[in-house]
Amino acid sequence: MKNIILTGDRPTGPLHIGHYVGSLRNRVLIQNEGNYDEMYVFAADAQALTDNFDNPKNVRKNVLEVVMDNIACGLDPNKVVFFIQSEVPELTELTFYYMNLVTVSRLHRNPTVKEEIKVRGFDESIPAGFFTYPVSQSADITAFKANIVPVGEDQLPMVEQAREIVRKFNSIYNTDVLVEPNAKIPNTENERRLVGTDGNAKMSKSLDNCIYLKDRKVFSMYTDPNHIKVEDPGKVEGNTVFTYLDVFCKDNSFSKYLPEYKNLDELKEHYRKGGLGDMKIKRFLNDILQEELKPIREKREELERNPEYVLNVLKEGTMKARKKAGETLKEVKKAMNYFE
Ligand code: ATP
Ligand code: MG
Repeated sequence: MKNIILTGDRPTGPLHIGHYVGSLRNRVLIQNEGNYDEMYVFAADAQALTDNFDNPKNVRKNVLEVVMDNIACGLDPNKVVFFIQSEVPELTELTFYYMNLVTVSRLHRNPTVKEEIKVRGFDESIPAGFFTYPVSQSADITAFKANIVPVGEDQLPMVEQAREIVRKFNSIYNTDVLVEPNAKIPNTENERRLVGTDGNAKMSKSLDNCIYLKDRKVFSMYTDPNHIKVEDPGKVEGNTVFTYLDVFCKDNSFSKYLPEYKNLDELKEHYRKGGLGDMKIKRFLNDILQEELKPIREKREELERNPEYVLNVLKEGTMKARKKAGETLKEVKKAMNYFE
């Protein structure tokens, strides 16, 4: 079987460090290991419109942003096919056939969609397009016969939905044209669902609690509300600065930026006891993050000066994507024994 990787980002804003640890780092790792046959990364603009239909301008503007972020993080347009979801109408057609294989009650049970409906305040007036986006996401994944989907934890129910559709389709039409995808999620809980700077929900473009890959400073963060004076003992658990340090701190970070401590355990111990100020740990985190983000930012600035190049990458990639999705659509219709 071929190894086909596919993943996408909603162009609702530039990418943040949650995307980076949740999915982008894995994408780059897979690309660099080179153990794959095809790799696709796309701007999920049609999906973004399902809850941003009143602001298509913003979605359109962010298509280039998310693609630039991906390339800046190390994805190579010579190895990865980048495309725009709405420019591959074959995906919409597949979605329409898949709709018949999913019940409304099954869609209601999707925990991520449930949560997103709450956060967006849709209550009872949920746009049908938004409600059914897991079906369109199944079309995105299966059109390319992707078997590996590098995503954060919130996407597990979507990959599960796609697996169910594949099984149902293959069994009803007695075929094996569709391939069951597997999610590839990061190793640690914090990376799978990086918390927002407000310390509450997951970091998300739609929630205004992000550190963007292009940000230069990271000082406004939820720590421990009872840690008012430096001498006060502080809490480490649920403290966003320490959560981010858990994710980003490297072996040599202390010798470089905070040599008076040996490691993260020692720093945590001091914070718990009292006598360690929030400013100091934030400055330390900022140093570590900037080291990781600086090369990304520099590459991104280079790309920003050359939007023609990025547009061209998307043009070529979208053509390739249409070809592949068209082939699958043909196979699907053939399996259904329908007009081909
Ligand atoms: P939106 O608020 O518009 O949904 P988002 O910030 O959730 O935006 P998406 O484009 O929906 O971003 O997600 C892109 C990818 O990044 C997905 O694989 C998702 O699982 C992953 N991801 C997003 N946010 C996080 C996070 N906070 N931690 C880990 N992974 C994340
Ligand atoms: Mg999301």
